[in-house]
Amino acid sequence: MEFVLRNMTEGIVLKKLNLMKESLDCCTCEHCLLDIASYALNRLPAKYVATTQGELLSRLDSLEPQYDATVMTVILQGAILVKDHPRHE
Ligand SMILES: [Zn+2]
Repeated sequence: MEFVLRNMTEGIVLKKLNLMKESLDCCTCEHCLLDIASYALNRLPAKYVATTQGELLSRLDSLEPQYDATVMTVILQGAILVKDHPRHE
């Protein structure tokens, strides 16, 4: 069994962003989505775990609703920022 050190917050944000991108009122090209992810990850605490890839994915599915809502809020804030200040034409 191979264990790796992963920041769960990163997986959570990217997964959530992927689910939400259709409903975001901003550009959703890869550049902008990663800008939103950076914004969110700089504001959410990192959650490092020693895990295997499979276990990480199952952990991502068992989030507390409160934390889920916090992640969504920060992603929406990032989307507003990207919409107002896109870093490309
Ligand atoms: Zn864009």
